[in-house]
Amino acid sequence: MRWTLRLGRVAGIPIQVHATFLLLVAWVAWIYWRIDPTITSVRDGVVFLLVVFGIVVLHELSHALTARAFGVGTTDITLLPIGGISRLERQPERPHQELLVALAGPALNYVLAAVCLAVLLARGPATPEALLPGQSFVADLLWVNVALGTFNLLPAFPMDGGRALRAGLSMVTTRVRATRIAAFLGKVMAAVFVVVGLMWSPVLALIGFFVWLAASAESATADMQRAMEGLAVRDAMITEVQTVAPTDPLASPVHLMLSSFQQDFPVVEGQRIVGMLPQEALLEGLVRLGHAGPVSAVMAREFQAALPEEDLFEVAGRLRGRARRCLPVVRDGALLGVVTIDNVAELLRVHAALEARPGGMRVTRALLPAGSSTGTSGGEPPRPAAPAPGAWSLTEPRQPPPSR
Ligand SMILES: [Zn+2]
Repeated sequence: MRWTLRLGRVAGIPIQVHATFLLLVAWVAWIYWRIDPTITSVRDGVVFLLVVFGIVVLHELSHALTARAFGVGTTDITLLPIGGISRLERQPERPHQELLVALAGPALNYVLAAVCLAVLLARGPATPEALLPGQSFVADLLWVNVALGTFNLLPAFPMDGGRALRAGLSMVTTRVRATRIAAFLGKVMAAVFVVVGLMWSPVLALIGFFVWLAASAESATADMQRAMEGLAVRDAMITEVQTVAPTDPLASPVHLMLSSFQQDFPVVEGQRIVGMLPQEALLEGLVRLGHAGPVSAVMAREFQAALPEEDLFEVAGRLRGRARRCLPVVRDGALLGVVTIDNVAELLRVHAALEARPGGMRVTRALLPAGSSTGTSGGEPPRPAAPAPGAWSLTEPRQPPPSR
């Protein structure tokens, strides 16, 4: 995320704050100044805000450390004016793990609320009034924690309650269907937040706006996952690929780039792939070395690759996540083809077109023409004959993916 300030690391997880958070600090200071124009009042207001965001960090760490227990890392935790966001490397696949990760944050708030309550009771004869917000710092913290825990448990996917709901639904239906239901409910809740927020709280309206965007993105991902259900990398692999040799001058990929749609070139020596030459590296090489410079001087020797049998949805996630256009498909060091984000997008468009037909078909491996899935090299095992183009068979809608 841009415009962020790194605060430090906790348990190896970078904690950062978005620059707009400073606006919130200024706004709170101003609100307190208007109520009571003294330095003490402003200081108390800002300190309370920072303590609340300290609690938000603990809430996010609770998610992150629970995810870590299931082998899922956290890229970073970012504080925004509307709350905290932990970027998990991925969502845990198993529903009960996702449920525990989602509930870990609110659970921590209830534990902190219980600690505050215990402190208040230990202080002396407990009158009901002493527990009310505004009576003491600890009483305020008690209610902040109850509010944070409860608000996050609202079923506004992808907030915690919505994620817990999705996990629960995943136990009785498919994950994709569970996501769709949770995302729909998330959008309904987001609309409620915006309407209620416009009347009482601009921050709530802003949260509603972001929940709407996030729910839409999650539901688009679920659609993508359903479109790719049962498809492997080889089903969306481009096999007509131009390659270059490490000893070639840069002029040759330039020529290939200008005479085709291809932008990134696998670098092949004999039968083996030894590097990748993305367009940016090629252009940068041209600046440094001119068109006679060798490919080997600018190619990336460390590169990610996909296996032909890998799940297409997972690999598409890797393509999108790293803003990479193209991954080579490799077996035993030999190049079989490439998979590109554009080709995956085309597959999704085909899926959308088929689904719009009466009866709602979907792309299945049986629908893919034979030519789209045969490798260029002999390394691929023989595949069952698919129907020839033009003889596509209609499959039942919502058919489970063919087992591989
Ligand atoms: Zn949370």
